[in-house]
Amino acid sequence: MEKKRIAILGAGESGVGAAILARKQGFDVFVSDFGAIADRYKNTLDELGVTYEEKQHTAEEILVAVEVIKSPGIPDTAPIIVALKKKNIPVISEIEFAKRYTSAKTICITGSNGKTTTTMLTYHILKKAGLNVGLAGNIGHSFAAQVATENFDWYVLEISSFMLDDMFEFRADIAVLLNITPDHLDRYDYKMSNYAASKMRVAQNQTQAQYFIYCADDEETLKALKTTTINATMYPFSIRKKVEKGAYLEGNTIHININQEEQLTMSISELALQGKHNTYNSMASGIVARVLDIRNETIREGMGDIKNIEHRLEFVAKISGVDYINDSKATNVNSTWYALESVPAKVVLILGGVDKGNDYDMLRSLVKSKVKAIVCLGKDTKRIHDAFEDDVEVIVNTFSMHEAVQLSYHLAKKGDTVLLSPACASFDLFKNYEDRGNQFKAAVKEL
Ligand code: ADP
Repeated sequence: MEKKRIAILGAGESGVGAAILARKQGFDVFVSDFGAIADRYKNTLDELGVTYEEKQHTAEEILVAVEVIKSPGIPDTAPIIVALKKKNIPVISEIEFAKRYTSAKTICITGSNGKTTTTMLTYHILKKAGLNVGLAGNIGHSFAAQVATENFDWYVLEISSFMLDDMFEFRADIAVLLNITPDHLDRYDYKMSNYAASKMRVAQNQTQAQYFIYCADDEETLKALKTTTINATMYPFSIRKKVEKGAYLEGNTIHININQEEQLTMSISELALQGKHNTYNSMASGIVARVLDIRNETIREGMGDIKNIEHRLEFVAKISGVDYINDSKATNVNSTWYALESVPAKVVLILGGVDKGNDYDMLRSLVKSKVKAIVCLGKDTKRIHDAFEDDVEVIVNTFSMHEAVQLSYHLAKKGDTVLLSPACASFDLFKNYEDRGNQFKAAVKEL
């Protein structure tokens, strides 16, 4: 019998991982990337004996597939996807595909901000508790590759809305929705309700035997919950109000309460990840850990000793009494808001890059009260000047990280904080946010 063809669009980490698994499952695999394929991935595909192409999508090879696995980066408007949909060929995500071949349980973490942090913290606690657990999704090695080669009982998966859009039968054992704030709206017809609906898919197919953990302070989540039926057992978390079951903050103490007998309490000062946003992230991870019946002691230890997560409010150095903090991962206004909120005044803020249509209004009051100078870094900084010219005395332009850090050094006084939290993507001057953060750290170390 002829083997069934699986076509894979996009030969990045998820696509190549899917190729490894599809090959193992005996499919005829064809990989196609509209861009160039990195050498290391070509080597893997060669070793697998998988046919692939780059810089093009050959329709005759792709439209004969029984199913297509699509990289989350490819929008539905791409001509090849339109052609596939027209022929009713199912298009799914790597996560949907991989889940068919594992009985491992999954914890799926999504939200506009905080996914990586919460995924890593959850993984850290589960590992500490001795669970046989893997880490995948938008992070590290692809889920599919691990399903093909590892034997984990649990996976903590960082899941983006683009992945969720191509997940249909998938069911999360524990779903976490951190928040919903405007991002990527270009992929959702500029409709917040479409984006929110995509995020809510994390709870699809769940029954009462599964769990849905969400932020009860998040307006968009609450709005979406009104129009979505959730069948899972729900645990909210909040820093504004007491919740009966779930997690809440009282004074400076986090309470996590899944079953009445065994409450977990912990002071926020004991958390390794500081800032209001990390209180949320820690509460979400803590609920997951309690659902898994992990001992309170282990949870407290995990939340207390997780290391700084790179490029996320990462403390870099104290030089002449000034703290330097790398929050390069803050690529939207909302995450910069949380970063600013969590550092003490006065701040020299390095801001700018590729502006995805930012509305800087929500930053205004924090900028007014905490920021003494804005160092713009990027090719087009007009919108930042327009937004803050009446609020901040010093706004200067720079065109390299070295220059931005040098200037910040001169603007900051003992006790101040220099914060790189750009609220923008990095592609004008850097390869990606990691490159931006690494250049920041290198420039700080040169001071
Ligand atoms: P993601 O993976 O969703 O992009 P990260 O964990 O990488 O999120 O964090 C990105 C940035 O978002 C951080 O640098 C921080 O400034 C901000 N952030 C983290 N957690 C939250 C949260 N729960 N709510 C709002 N902002 C957050």
